[in-house]
Amino acid sequence: MWTAPDHTRVVLDLDGQVDHRLFRLKDPDRVVVDLEGVENEADAKGLDLPDPVLDAVRTGQPESDTLRVVMDLRQEVKPKTFQLEAHGRHGHRLVIDLYREEGGEHPVAEARERTRADEVLVAVDAGHGGEDPGAIGPGGVQEKDVVLEIAKRVAKKLDEKPGIRTFLVRDGDYFVELEERTKMAREANADLFLSVHADAFHNPDAQGASVYALSRKGASDEAAAWLARSENKADLAGGVDLGQVDEVVASVLLDLSQTATISDSLDLGTGILDQLDGLTRLHSDEVGQAPFRVLKSPDVPSLLIEAGFISNREEARRLQSGQYQKRIARAVANGSSRFLKERDMRPTVASGEGSAIEYTVQEGDTLWSIAEQHQTSVSTIKEANDLQGSTVLVGKVLEIP
Ligand SMILES: [Zn+2]
Repeated sequence: MWTAPDHTRVVLDLDGQVDHRLFRLKDPDRVVVDLEGVENEADAKGLDLPDPVLDAVRTGQPESDTLRVVMDLRQEVKPKTFQLEAHGRHGHRLVIDLYREEGGEHPVAEARERTRADEVLVAVDAGHGGEDPGAIGPGGVQEKDVVLEIAKRVAKKLDEKPGIRTFLVRDGDYFVELEERTKMAREANADLFLSVHADAFHNPDAQGASVYALSRKGASDEAAAWLARSENKADLAGGVDLGQVDEVVASVLLDLSQTATISDSLDLGTGILDQLDGLTRLHSDEVGQAPFRVLKSPDVPSLLIEAGFISNREEARRLQSGQYQKRIARAVANGSSRFLKERDMRPTVASGEGSAIEYTVQEGDTLWSIAEQHQTSVSTIKEANDLQGSTVLVGKVLEIP
């Protein structure tokens, strides 16, 4: 069971395709699913249900070969079901989506509401979620959990910068379809779309962070192609009613716009890699390209950021540490901020009280000269930016408290 902002998803794991019938009962509100020729092996009684919709799940047998699943509800819902074929480690599934009459605050509406006309909006997307765990690392650590933490930190870092607002495409453990993610960014009028992931590879030695933009032709290399295939499978694991997916309309105009958008995405990606360099190991110092479905907005510069290899024992450990997550977040936020400034997309806002000034390191600068210029100390700058040594690279964005 997974709770999303506007619906609750209940998934039944099955041995194969089933005939089922769904109906609603009133006073009290219930949704009932009858499954033909099914025997129950699960115990619904022990289910922990901290959910705004589901109060309890009960099972019974109204006839000898029918399993009845009764969902007691806390509020009225619009239910919808669909079946999913077996895929990867998932067997056959029956998905029951319970849509609330009054959904929670939708992130898109909320984001538009609190973004001023002169502010830029960045959509921060945590990959996977719900029944799609993404890649799984040593000790069972799941990509969906790690990337949600990092995405939240990226959003927080960006929100601290004057003139930038963010919204999280998902802020909990539930699945959002790939196409829906880009749709949300476009509906919110987002200026950038950043999707946070963690890599996995069959070679456990693979390591380092990397950044990808969309390619409409092939992939930049074999590893990028492999990665795009595995990331694009999310919809199969996460459960998408394929009858519902609209194909993006292809047109010449869309094509032209996308070419410019990809070029912007590559610049943004290079800027983020520059900021990551020195803070963490890089898997590649160039922005990779592959046909990632989640990056297909024709008009919003979009990047996929692989924060490290969750399949690598040491990196799996680091990806779970707050310190490493913060570092990645800082680099992504600083790179984005610099890109937006260069494009004049950010208003020149005076820093608010308590917010930091951003300074881009110039040729000939030393930490000491930067500190003196801003009437602060080297140790203050080092601490604010997590700097280990005393050297800084030209182009690096520093926060000066
Ligand atoms: Zn992923």
